[in-house]
This record gives sequence, C-alpha cells and structure tokens, in this order.
Amino acid sequence: MDYLIRPQNTQKVYLSEKTLDVDDILKSNYDYIHDAIKKEGIILKAHECNLFKELVFDSKIVGFCSYDFSRQFITAALNNIYVLPEFRGNNLFLKELKKTMVEYNKPSIVEPTRLVVELLIRYGLAEKISDSLVASSLEFIIPGDHVLSNHEYKSSEELSTHFYDLKMSASIHFLDIDEGVIAYSSPLNYDIIHHDCLSARDEMNEEYLDEIREFFIKNDVEIKNAVRNLEENLPVKSYSIEEIVGVENEFSYYIESLIDDAHVTYDKAFEIKQQMIEEYEEGKILKESLLIRLAYLFDENKDVTIKSHTDKCPHCKMPVDNHDKYCHFCGINLNYNSGESD
Ligand SMILES: [Zn+2]
Repeated sequence: MDYLIRPQNTQKVYLSEKTLDVDDILKSNYDYIHDAIKKEGIILKAHECNLFKELVFDSKIVGFCSYDFSRQFITAALNNIYVLPEFRGNNLFLKELKKTMVEYNKPSIVEPTRLVVELLIRYGLAEKISDSLVASSLEFIIPGDHVLSNHEYKSSEELSTHFYDLKMSASIHFLDIDEGVIAYSSPLNYDIIHHDCLSARDEMNEEYLDEIREFFIKNDVEIKNAVRNLEENLPVKSYSIEEIVGVENEFSYYIESLIDDAHVTYDKAFEIKQQMIEEYEEGKILKESLLIRLAYLFDENKDVTIKSHTDKCPHCKMPVDNHDKYCHFCGINLNYNSGESD
C-alpha cells in the first residue's frame, strides 16, 4: 500500500472554529484510509468534528482520530478513532489519549464501542469492578437521542458517565439509584456485529438491572475510590491560577479569547479574574477545575439544562455524581464548605 509519509513522525492536525467534515477530509487526503474503513464495513460514529488528527506510526499515516474540541476550555470529546488493521496492537490509541492529556486536558469519549472499553481496560485507564461492569477514568458521552432508560427519559439530554456494562455493550448511568432509574446507551453497529449485543440485551430484564443497582449500592465506597484512583493516575496537564487568569494586570490567553467570544467588557473580565483568584485561594475551586470555573463565569446563560438526575450540585443545580471532586458545570470544589449558604 502507498502510505502517506511523515518523515519526522509529525502528526498533521486540522483545527477549526467551524465544523469539519470527516468524510471530506478522508476522501480528499487519505483515500486509502477511507477505502479501508469502507472495506471493513465500519460506519463512522461522527461525520463532523472540529479537531482532526492523523495517527502516525513508523513515519506512515496509518489512521486518524477526531474530536469535538473547545479551544477556550480545552475540552476534547473523542468521536472517531480508526487505525488500519495491519497497524493495530501498537498502542496508537493509548499514545493519542496520553498526548491529549499532557497537551490539553483529559478527553472524554463519545459513544465508546465495547472494543474501545476493552482497550481502556488493557491500557489501565479503566478497570473491571465486577464480571461485567467497568469503571473508567475517562467519561463516556452519549448524545441524548441515543440514550435509553427503564423509565422515561428526556431525549434531549446528553448523558455522561464513568460506567459500562460489557454484557449489554452499553454505557450505563443511574439517574436515581433509590428508584432504580437507569439510563444506558443504545446499541452501536459495531457491537451488534461483533458482540451480538442485541441478543444479549434481549435477555436483560428488570432483574438484571436490579442486580446492577444492588451492586452499586453495596459497593458504593469501593466504586467511588476506584474511579478516583484511576483519575488520579492520569498524566493530565496541570494549570496554575496565573496561567488561567493571567499575571498581575494582564489577561491570560483564555480570558482574551473569552472576551472576544462572549462580548464581555474588560471591566467585567477583570471582576471575574479577581473572583477566580479569591475563590481559588479559599479552596472553593480546585486546580483541576480552574478552566471549568472560568468558562462558567463567562457564560451568560447559566440555565439548568439537565434535570433528569437526582444528585445535584448545591451551587448550580446541575447533575453531580458521588465520585466527583468538583462540579463539572460550575467548577466548584464539592468538598468546599464555607459555613454559609450561597
Ligand atoms: Zn455546579
């Protein structure tokens, strides 16, 4: 095969504020990868992205991955990854995830297949907590219209979870563990073909979901610790308060771009900067949640958009999980207690 060559192993990256068409990029630049995907009968999970990266091995371009990427907030959700069959087994997926963590932040994964979850286990980024249940350090994101539930579910609400069930080939999440309300991802083509997940799901009934629920209740503390340990071992880039808000009277790169995007005045931006510094010094924000907090404070419509969960952040009322150290929406340290209500 005539592989495209990158002599220094340099990975070409396409990054755009606008949406990039994954098929178009593949067809016009990497026809052999496009053909291989078709030949394997793989259907791309996402057709759009705003960050597209080549995967390079031994100076050859042997695959690609794509992300939904937010430049200001350095959040990246992996929505496609593909490696040519003859180059699998070289840990290219792991290398890519680590690179993203070191350079930007911890990525999340949009609708992982069982294969992806099994790779995460092999890489030590996830672990089996029972015969069929998996806890992951990286979050799995399921678009609202691909979420199923044993109770009614507002289909517009995206699901984010650290848990996966290998038997069902599904990302799973308890919306209300006391009432036994569970949400899970709809079957993916890949899992239907390779793991016959439809028959497996046919055999799953309320009793099976009840067993999962009991397992989660019984092992609450252990599961919480498992997720935290996995997360703490990730090589995630750590930011200082100065990097996030800027030194002395200057604004950081992040604030500068937020001023442009959110049409915020310099006075308002300065107020937010001061608030960030104070909150950080009080312990109200953690190092890991600085960027989230910044984004939240610049966001002008702080509507509570997700309402299906029972556990809510006391500060912004958005969903939280018991293993969360900080709120993923407003960035407040969930162990912070000021002694006064706000
Ligand atoms: Zn919050």
